[in-house]
Amino acid sequence: MLKDYTFWFVVGSQFLYGPEVLQTVEKRAAQMAEQMNATGNLPCRIVYKLTAKTPEEVTQIIKEANRDDSCAGVITWCHTFSPSKMWINGLHLLQKPYCHFATQYNREIPNAEIDMDFMNLNQAAHGDREHGFIGARLRIPRKVIAGYWQDETVQKRLGSWMRAAVGAMFSKTLKVMRFGDNMRQVAVTEGDKVEAQIKLGWQVNTWPVGELISVIESVTQSEVDRLLEEYQQSYQMNTDNMDAVRYQAKAEIAMKKMLDEQGCKAFTNTFEDLYGMEQLPGLASQHLMAQGYGYGGEGDWKVAAMTAVIKAMSEGQTGGTAFMEDYTYHLVPGNTYSLGAHMLEVCPSVAAQKPRIEVHPLGIGGKGDPARLVFEGKAGNAIVVSLVDMGGRLRLIVQDIECVKPIMKMPNLPVARVMWKPMPDLTTGVECWILAGGAHHTVLTYDVTAQQMADWARIMEIEFVHITKETTPEKLEQDLMLADLAWKLK
Ligand code: MN
Repeated sequence: MLKDYTFWFVVGSQFLYGPEVLQTVEKRAAQMAEQMNATGNLPCRIVYKLTAKTPEEVTQIIKEANRDDSCAGVITWCHTFSPSKMWINGLHLLQKPYCHFATQYNREIPNAEIDMDFMNLNQAAHGDREHGFIGARLRIPRKVIAGYWQDETVQKRLGSWMRAAVGAMFSKTLKVMRFGDNMRQVAVTEGDKVEAQIKLGWQVNTWPVGELISVIESVTQSEVDRLLEEYQQSYQMNTDNMDAVRYQAKAEIAMKKMLDEQGCKAFTNTFEDLYGMEQLPGLASQHLMAQGYGYGGEGDWKVAAMTAVIKAMSEGQTGGTAFMEDYTYHLVPGNTYSLGAHMLEVCPSVAAQKPRIEVHPLGIGGKGDPARLVFEGKAGNAIVVSLVDMGGRLRLIVQDIECVKPIMKMPNLPVARVMWKPMPDLTTGVECWILAGGAHHTVLTYDVTAQQMADWARIMEIEFVHITKETTPEKLEQDLMLADLAWKLK
């Protein structure tokens, strides 16, 4: 999917400097795009489109960008000075993610060569300030990246933003299938689906569990055999209860059929709404997540959609992204951790070793013993992400965490588990998370960074809260109070 998207490189200039300068600008802009594409540091192609000299050209190219579904963003730069009143009407229409790339063709000031002709041709420092002002004045969400275009760190920042922009494009077409409703009485999994669609594009709708059951019943033996072979290859079969495993395969095949038929890339269910099903989908949901579908337990459509968005943003990366839930703490002084898991449904993309298929009783819900994948999560830096509905607006909360190899075996815990230290430390981190209203459900990702989530939130125009190793509850409380005021004025 990443390779299907392009980013349009639009360079600002004007007629003032004569045709020769404009030809040089065009040639160089095309060369820069080609050279950056060749580095492999950009996940999507950047395509040089235009050196804009008039308001009409700017408006026209932005209309074309809006119309082109494969265009995931517009990247602008001013090689020369480009008077910004000519950009106002066009930028007003812009519906794509927008990055102002403040760079320069030459790296060095050429000591002997520099004269006023050189200055007129190479004045990004001048032009990008005029261009930056109009972005600020129009108050359009934009990413600003400054630096030399041949530097790897600069290219990687641009590439990282591209993934956030693709996440925004994915979001705008995302459909979520809810099998039944939410778990009764739970607050944080509720939310305004109309607001979510207006801001994020998500189409969140429900399908009856009864319909899923009739599709499960229509699944053939050979379809189940095929999927079982895939399970055998990907996982270690640690059970004799093949009937339970086969039921999960049937449920997976049926859910996938319904999801694909409706074009849904995320789904939810709840143990309270399984009428007619033999087991809560465990292995089934886990293996669907491994294929890129988003999932949320207990009808949590927000976390289901976020899981799908983050998986789309991290396409081709191998760290892993999973639906997660904070479960229990280890509060030994100097050795504090949060243990994350779920009843069943943690994505095997975060597994440190080959996951085992096991069958155990569930303890709640009153259904048959479900097959599930059991494994330990990887060690490494990651983030947890939670989207909450604050009433009138959506808030995205991201916390930096450090995952560790679980410090104990927990041989009687029959589910996948990940252990981590939240930043800045366990108790302060928990205080900050609770102050911000972060949910118990999160997306845990080793691939997507907090910076990318901030970029995504900016494009979607929703509130963003980041809990880092520097965060204090006092400062956060103040920021949240000020944000509350600001968002009420918006
Ligand atoms: Mn849950």
